[in-house]
Amino acid sequence: MSFSVSEPIAHQATPAGVLVNDVHSQLNPTFVEQVVRPGSVEQLQATVALAARSGRKVSICGGRHSMGGQQFGAGTVLIDMRDLSAIQHLDQDYGVVDVQAGVQWPALIDGLMERQVGSAHPWGIAQKQTGADRLTIGGALSANVHGRGLTMTPIVGDVVSFDLIDARGMRRQCSRTGNADLFALAIGGYGLFGVIASVRLRLARRVKLQRRVRVMDSGELTAAFGEAIAAGARYGDFQFATDTWSNDFLRRGVFVCYYPVPDDTPAPASAAALTDAQWRALHWLSHDDKRTAFRLYAAHYLATDGQTYWSDTHQLAAYVDDYHEALDRRAASAHKRTEMITEVYVPREQLARFLEEVRQDFRSHGESLIYGTIRLIERDTETFLPWASDRWACIVFNVCVEHTTVGLDRAASAFRQLIDTASACGGTYYLAYHRWATRAQIEACHPRIREWVRMKQLFDPECRFDSDWYRHLVAALEE
Ligand SMILES: Cc1cc2nc3c(=O)[nH]c(=O)nc-3n(C[C@H](O)[C@H](O)[C@H](O)COP(=O)(O)OP(=O)(O)OC[C@H]3O[C@@H](n4cnc5c(N)ncnc54)[C@H](O)[C@@H]3O)c2cc1C
Repeated sequence: MSFSVSEPIAHQATPAGVLVNDVHSQLNPTFVEQVVRPGSVEQLQATVALAARSGRKVSICGGRHSMGGQQFGAGTVLIDMRDLSAIQHLDQDYGVVDVQAGVQWPALIDGLMERQVGSAHPWGIAQKQTGADRLTIGGALSANVHGRGLTMTPIVGDVVSFDLIDARGMRRQCSRTGNADLFALAIGGYGLFGVIASVRLRLARRVKLQRRVRVMDSGELTAAFGEAIAAGARYGDFQFATDTWSNDFLRRGVFVCYYPVPDDTPAPASAAALTDAQWRALHWLSHDDKRTAFRLYAAHYLATDGQTYWSDTHQLAAYVDDYHEALDRRAASAHKRTEMITEVYVPREQLARFLEEVRQDFRSHGESLIYGTIRLIERDTETFLPWASDRWACIVFNVCVEHTTVGLDRAASAFRQLIDTASACGGTYYLAYHRWATRAQIEACHPRIREWVRMKQLFDPECRFDSDWYRHLVAALEE
């Protein structure tokens, strides 16, 4: 990619408190007043109650992977939930587990397996985010996340109930039948309706899956997804070519689906898997030689055709914190760079049109796309502010951003353009991945946004739960 000469971005001038930042984009350096890591629900309640008595604002974080600044607020008391991570009870008859909200996916998956040694039909998680693992269940509910399930709603569909600590420090149990309004608001509520202390999560039977892989045109994708689902595939995605100037750009990709097979299906004699060194090499190529990156990535995936995986562990993904530092050193980059992710949604029948329009647009601006994938989502009819407001095709873009004024402007304008293109196709975008949407885009794509802000004011009139993202949202709506 080319590097523009511009000013490094300026951060807060008078630092006070504790500096925190998000893990992936590292574009949210924030001085919070203090970080509190409660070790019990009582300590969590006391922290919120004390903040209320002393008139302090509270922000909440889990794995700190969000990039819109919704987990931090300048000057707030930041509650870091990661020490509240117990797996409390597994009901093996009904397939539900009670966990504290700071538990992260690898610990949950391992903990479930440990508790079911010898079970003929064990339970596992139904879905988690792809691409990173050290994310909390509380963060998952607050973002109403999705994985690569082919026929799943966002995670709200897996939630039986949760305990929420409200703005006065009181514990409230929320489900579809009790505190149902808070159930619908706090899931996909970005930490603004209270602290989720514990969650009762519905599980799925842990089954063996066979991976089937082909490299194909994106124009065939909608039909291919439909055929895979009809043939019983449970999970799948399409990882597309990212070299802006290749013919394959957004037109070819690796289509991977996972089909249930009997649990005693033997694994192939030699399973193909990328080593750490190969992953590092691919990371480098994804920035420096995207054409080769796609060729090698596709060849690797094709070599795994027919391999078997477990329905829970196949969703795990290696993620190296600060991986971009090594890339920047090797590229002798004059400025820090990281990736920013965005996700937009279009009606499935509009997917081919959307991809062609984005192709033209990225070519005219020479954007540096690092990684992208397409998945499916079923409609969420339960949360107050659903991003899955229809049965969308979900398109994820991971873009390399230089931490300069020019770099940020460029990314902001690319992301705004993606929203416009998705919107023109009848789609929408994920509200909180970044803070670059215009007021018109926010209102057009999230028509209940003002009503949602009113609900926030109703349930939390003193805005005890606050974040830089929320402050930005309110200001944007007032413009
Ligand atoms: C590499 C990468 C891959 C990703 N892949 C996906 C994906 O496949 N699908 C997807 O849907 N998303 C994806 N995301 C987005 C990610 O799922 C969300 O940002 C998620 O919320 C991060 O969880 P976290 O534990 O890091 O939470 P944080 O980033 O720390 O917090 C996220 C939000 O949750 C709130 N929160 C955290 N804990 C609690 C709690 N206990 N109670 C109340 N509020 C709380 C915070 O206030 C904040 O608003 C990805 C992000 C990255 C960086």
